[in-house]
Amino acid sequence: MKWSKEAEERIKKAPFFIRSLARKKAEELARSQGKHIVEVEDIEKAKNARDLQDVSKIDLSIEGVTDTTYREIKLCGGMRGCPLTLFEDEKVVNCLHSAIKKECLEEFLEERQEGPVLYHHKLKAAVSGCPNGCSQPQIKDMSIIGYNKPQVYKGYCIDCNQCVKACPEKLIIVDQDPSIDDEACIDCGRCIRACPTDSIQVEGRGYRIIIGGRLGRRPHLAKHLVDVTSLEELETVLTTLIQLYKEWIAKESKISNEVENLGIEEVRELLELKRQKEKLVLGETGE
Ligand code: SF4
Ligand code: SF4
Ligand code: SF4
Repeated sequence: MKWSKEAEERIKKAPFFIRSLARKKAEELARSQGKHIVEVEDIEKAKNARDLQDVSKIDLSIEGVTDTTYREIKLCGGMRGCPLTLFEDEKVVNCLHSAIKKECLEEFLEERQEGPVLYHHKLKAAVSGCPNGCSQPQIKDMSIIGYNKPQVYKGYCIDCNQCVKACPEKLIIVDQDPSIDDEACIDCGRCIRACPTDSIQVEGRGYRIIIGGRLGRRPHLAKHLVDVTSLEELETVLTTLIQLYKEWIAKESKISNEVENLGIEEVRELLELKRQKEKLVLGETGE
C-alpha cells in the first residue's frame, strides 16, 4: 500500500518499538475505508486503536538487571514486552541462571574472594532479544542475542517493498524477487515479519552466544562464539562456558583476556573438547 509523503514523515517519529505495528494498523484502517494511500489521519486513528495503546503502555525502560554479589545480568526491554524480541527472554535468563547455579559459580567466586567485592570481580552477562543489543551484550563476559536468519524464496514477490522499508541496514533490493546482502545481514528478521507473501522466510532462528567483552583500561568487544537453536543446547553451552570461566578465574585470567590471547577459534575448540569430555563422562556414568 502507498503512503503519502507526510504520512511517511509522521510514522518515522513513532517510537521504534511500535513503529511497525503502527504502520500495519494505519494500513489496515486505510484499507477498511477503501483507500489506496495511507495519510496522516490514518496514523492518528491508528494511535487510538486499542492494541496499539496496549503496546505503548508497555514499560519499556529498555533495560533491567538481575543482580547478586557475584554476577550481573543485564536485560533488554524484550523482558518487558518489546515486540522486536526474537525469543522468550525469561526462558533465556532462566537458562543462564540455571547454568550459574549448576556450576556453583557464586560459591566458587565467594571462596576465592579476599576483601570487598568490586565490579570487576563479578561475572557480567547480558540478554538481548534481537541484534539491536539494547542491553549492551558486546561489552559483557558472555551474552545471548536472539537471531532470525532470512532466506529468499523466488516467484512469490508482489513488489510491495515492505521488506526494503523494514530493513534497518538497507540490505534488500527488489527486482522481481528480493535479494539480500547476506554478508552484511545482522539476522534481525524484520524483513521476514514485514513480507506479506512469505517470499522471505526464516532459514534459521535461535540464540547467538558472544563472549569476551569488557570496558576499562583496554576495552574489548565480545566475539561471536556459537549459534544454538534450542534452550537445552543453550543451557549446555552456557554450563560448559562457565566451567571454562572458572578455570580461567582460577589462574587469575578473564574471558576477555583468553579470547584476546587465544583467539575465538581456539576458545571455540576448547569449549567443544570440554563438551565432548562431558558427554563421555555422562555416557560412562549411564552404563
Ligand atoms: S534488544 Fe531488541 S528486543 Fe531487546 S529492547 Fe532492544 S529492540 Fe527490543
Ligand atoms: S534480517 Fe534484518 S538486516 Fe538482514 S536483510 Fe532482513 S531486515 Fe535486513
Ligand atoms: S519480498 Fe515480500 S516484502 Fe519484499 S517486496 Fe516482495 S512481497 Fe514485498
